[in-house]
Amino acid sequence: MNLFNVDENYQNPTIEGYYGDFGGAYIPEMLYSNVETLKKQYLQIMYDPIFQAEFQYLLKDYVGRPTPLFLAERLSKEIGATIYLKREDLCHTGAHKINNTVGQIILAQRLGKKKIIAETGAGQHGVATATVCALKGMECVIYMGEKDIERQAPNVARMKMLGATVIPAKSGSKTLKDATNEAIRAWINEPNETHYIIGSVVGPHPYPDMVARFQSVISEEIRKQLKDKTGSELPTHVLACVGGGSNAAGAFYHFLNEPTVQIVAVEAAGHGVHSGLSAATTQLGTPGILHGSKSIVMQTSDGQVVEPHSISAGLDYPGIGPLHAFLYESKRGIFLSATDEEALASAFHLSKIEGIIPALETAHAFSVLPKMNLKASDVVVVCLSGRGDKDLATYMEYL
Ligand SMILES: *Cc1c(COP(=O)(O)O)cnc(C)c1O
Repeated sequence: MNLFNVDENYQNPTIEGYYGDFGGAYIPEMLYSNVETLKKQYLQIMYDPIFQAEFQYLLKDYVGRPTPLFLAERLSKEIGATIYLKREDLCHTGAHKINNTVGQIILAQRLGKKKIIAETGAGQHGVATATVCALKGMECVIYMGEKDIERQAPNVARMKMLGATVIPAKSGSKTLKDATNEAIRAWINEPNETHYIIGSVVGPHPYPDMVARFQSVISEEIRKQLKDKTGSELPTHVLACVGGGSNAAGAFYHFLNEPTVQIVAVEAAGHGVHSGLSAATTQLGTPGILHGSKSIVMQTSDGQVVEPHSISAGLDYPGIGPLHAFLYESKRGIFLSATDEEALASAFHLSKIEGIIPALETAHAFSVLPKMNLKASDVVVVCLSGRGDKDLATYMEYL
């Protein structure tokens, strides 16, 4: 019997958006009234019955929810525990990201916005955003690091085909962090017309909470599905990879206040945690402010953000959502990491033993299973956050 620290309510931040010491809204003056409006209205809008009816309808008939909870028999046998896969890879557009974009686009319409901007790393959030903008007839501008534009060419093509404008971020490491900076800059220029759809549980309050709530459908479904399959709603472990942390937040959400469920987050270690080429934020970071909230950030002693590295564009981020910083600091969650090489090996292995080609991001989560000393009685749910089609070019280099 595990006894985790759950004397706090881990789901809800304070009214100012704090999870413990982490969170808040550190934003330029120009965005203040915009973010303030969102903060005052998001819960009221999200839980309005008419909003919920449209959200649930789109999740079902457009996204394809509920996604299956699949018993991975061969993997279970190999690991020596019961392993279920939450199949977010089967969502429309191939990853969990669309749960959030569907929610935010309806919310943007309620707020009277005409234009959507978003940042993207792997391109999955960009594709999900461009998709729902096409669905709702909204103008869509996506910021993406120049390096990510190269390594995620199929997703760039998809966004363009869906009618979005893709703007390259050419500063810094030309990846997700830089795209986020550009998107924030663009938002400052026209805050009233525009809704900024942040793709993870990062950014100023209320984004982390809002995105976690939209993604929480993942764990809501897991509980029901697990009950049907095993008689109990609660697994012993829930595992997810963490970039900013949205698929993890969604998979953990309805288990956060359950003391018997071990939360396991997996970060990208790149070439190795201490290699200088890593994105294992909790292992390398210190408290700091990044993209509008206080969290754990990879930074130098004088506060310069350190360039992260991961083979997967979606995990190549020097921060982590404030909820996860709190889960780490309070020890409610265990934070592990997997290297580029381990993630690649897991991607190839999962493909061969379960017939599922995962995204590179997702593959990180699978890498830690053999190291967890699981028991035969353990029931583990892994959030299979996305499918691997977008990473085929990378996989082909290793075939
Ligand atoms: C974007 C992405 C991630 C990382 O983002 P989170 O916000 O940490 O979930 C993980 N897996 C896939 C498939 C993604 O597209």
